Amino acid sequence: MRAAELFRSRFGGEPDGVWLAPGRANLMGEHTDYNDGYVLPFALGQGVSAAAARRAGPGSPGSPGSPGSRRLTLCSRQEPAAPVQVALDQLAPGQVTGWAAYPAGVAWALEAAGHPVPGACIAIDSDLPAGAGLSSSAALECATALALTELALTELALTELALTEKAAAVPRRELAAIARRAENEFVGVPTGIMDQSASLLCRSGHALLLDCLSLETSQVPFDPAAAGASLLLINTRAKHDLADGEYGERRAECEQAARLLGIPSLRYLTNPADLDRLADPVLRRRARHVITDDQRVLDVVTLLSSPPADAYREIGRLLTQSHVSLRDDFEISWPEADRAVEAALAAGAFGARMIGGGFGGSVLALVPATAGVPVRAAITEAFGRSGWRRPEFLDAAPSDSARRLVPAP
Ligand code: ADP
Ligand code: MG
Repeated sequence: MRAAELFRSRFGGEPDGVWLAPGRANLMGEHTDYNDGYVLPFALGQGVSAAAARRAGPGSPGSPGSPGSRRLTLCSRQEPAAPVQVALDQLAPGQVTGWAAYPAGVAWALEAAGHPVPGACIAIDSDLPAGAGLSSSAALECATALALTELALTELALTELALTEKAAAVPRRELAAIARRAENEFVGVPTGIMDQSASLLCRSGHALLLDCLSLETSQVPFDPAAAGASLLLINTRAKHDLADGEYGERRAECEQAARLLGIPSLRYLTNPADLDRLADPVLRRRARHVITDDQRVLDVVTLLSSPPADAYREIGRLLTQSHVSLRDDFEISWPEADRAVEAALAAGAFGARMIGGGFGGSVLALVPATAGVPVRAAITEAFGRSGWRRPEFLDAAPSDSARRLVPAP
């Protein structure tokens, strides 16, 4: 990625550092997060990078402000408009709109949590399609959060306060909560904690089991390549808008189902027979999706933890089951996703499912390594037959969480 290059051309100096935060794909557990359930995301090799420098003090680029200048200047290669200026002392939800609300929201949430935010110039670049359900929003937040907190540390070091308590790096779980708050309260998108946790906590060769009730996490070995399998993401290029009404409607339905069952959340519904206590067939289907997907997360974890010979075939079967559940019980699938899943299976995939909030975005397919080419060809052909735009394919490999790229730590 070329965030540093963009930084030089826009700000005329060298960045203090470049940070990368990955997108994520969720292997299993969709719409389970806000039901206090389980999710199992892994970080992608693709992500958002932020080249950044403190605005004030020695080495700041082009000395664009006076020392102590309390502004963020933000630009992105994916957003060609002029850089956005944000005054740090006047930040409040609703004040910054458009893409810059994500990094500005991170600065706001950091300060609200008592962490110093230095004035800075930040240049963003990404190899992650935005709005494709691969969590470019969280990647943008987490890259910004790492950049700002590490720049703040450098500033403290320069003022010889490095040994005070405040000079410690912000723990990653706290950073995830801060980034989520930025998205929920500053940008105004009601998401769970999964995306930011994945971007900040995942490890290469692992998926992250996240219990959304206790917030406990564990690393689950996940290395499809070693087992002769590969992961393929299909960006269906169909509209994806989490902020629209459907997401809120599903959340409300789940809450209503839990209320009718007399439990705090659907996580507490452990006996599938209890579903019959829901008279409304729609609520019953919604709840059935949530509890079966929760169980599928645990089943995948068991398969990955002590893999039988056909583990990936089994995981594939669970992926497809999840898709059927999202399509028929939760009713958030979309035609391009259904077609991609069908075509992938017909061409030899172990399994496939839509991922993300629904109504657009991406499909994740688990395929034998030898079937990657025919699976892509079959999906492309199926889209062509329907007159749809050609889908975008991304190889997905369980990768490391957010980190500093330059200078290497
Ligand atoms: P997803 O997180 O699934 O990619 P969202 O709708 O949650 O989809 O977030 C997409 C939004 O995040 C974009 O509309 C844009 O505002 C912001 N964004 C993502 N990547 C970038 C980028 N490289 N530069 C600027 N803004 C970005
Ligand atoms: Mg997002």
